[in-house]
Amino acid sequence: MDYKNITVAGSGVLGSQIAFQTAFKGFEVTVYDLNDEALEKAKGRIIKLKENYKADLGASDAEVDAAYSRMAFQTDLAQAVSKADLVIEAIPEVVAIKTEFYQKLGKIAPAHTVFATNSSTLLPSQFAEATGRPEKFLAIHFANTIWINNTAEIMKHPGTDEKVFNDLIEFAKAIGMVALPLHKEQPGYILNSLLVPFLEAAELLLVKEVADVQTVDKTWMIATGAPLGPFAILDVVGIRTAHNIVQAKAAATGNEDFKKLAALLQTEYIDQGKLGRETGEGFYKY
Ligand code: NAD
Repeated sequence: MDYKNITVAGSGVLGSQIAFQTAFKGFEVTVYDLNDEALEKAKGRIIKLKENYKADLGASDAEVDAAYSRMAFQTDLAQAVSKADLVIEAIPEVVAIKTEFYQKLGKIAPAHTVFATNSSTLLPSQFAEATGRPEKFLAIHFANTIWINNTAEIMKHPGTDEKVFNDLIEFAKAIGMVALPLHKEQPGYILNSLLVPFLEAAELLLVKEVADVQTVDKTWMIATGAPLGPFAILDVVGIRTAHNIVQAKAAATGNEDFKKLAALLQTEYIDQGKLGRETGEGFYKY
């Protein structure tokens, strides 16, 4: 792996974090977004990240300032990627937006540049053709609050070159991530392939009135030694996100239990401002 210059496209919640973490670990980083307004917002996020790194990681002022000095900001895509060895894409989770971005990027990026998407739910094979370089394209999925929850799920599509895959694993380690390779495409990667059905099973026990929240969590925690049960995890994820997932499932399947569950989350939690940890109350009080 001989990456030096990294471009992060999309400087929102995740893009800002990926860019700062990468610069913090010594790489030269160019942050690309559509306009100056978006980049100004990103700079605001990065100022906050500096404080997080000092508080959570014990980083010094000199270290966070040095990281920032390795970052450049660009609204011109051709200039943003002119020296890039790797482009990490963190633009909105919308197929049309990503497809158009890759079509444009594929034409103007240097031939050696590798592209990696941070998409949470879309598969790299959906965009492989649009990139014009399917062998140099794959996914690297970070978690929110990357400096603490430092997982990087690295997933290839059938056309990804093996060396590109292995290089990205090395890069992920170089920026302080625990690299988690996926050798085949999998919607939801590893984490959500496990977590979504697990949380759903717990919610169904509740809506079917089999057991209450505390009993379900207690069962899981005592029996497996896990620090949190599924409802405590749902409070971390946020009830709004849980509701979106359940409602989509209810609409897709017409299943009565999922409809009941969506209604329960809406009336008993969301309508009452109980959105989980972020509001101080969800299934539990904090
Ligand atoms: P966000 O809405 O916070 O940020 C998106 C950014 O992309 C904005 O700054 C926007 O101006 C910019 N943008 C829009 N169109 C663009 C274009 N054509 N070119 C360049 N920039 C463009 O989104 P986010 O939450 O950071 O998510 C970005 C990606 O990361 C998504 O694919 C999402 O699935 C993934 N992701 C998000 C999380 C999370 O917890 N938020 C976690 C893991 C992965």
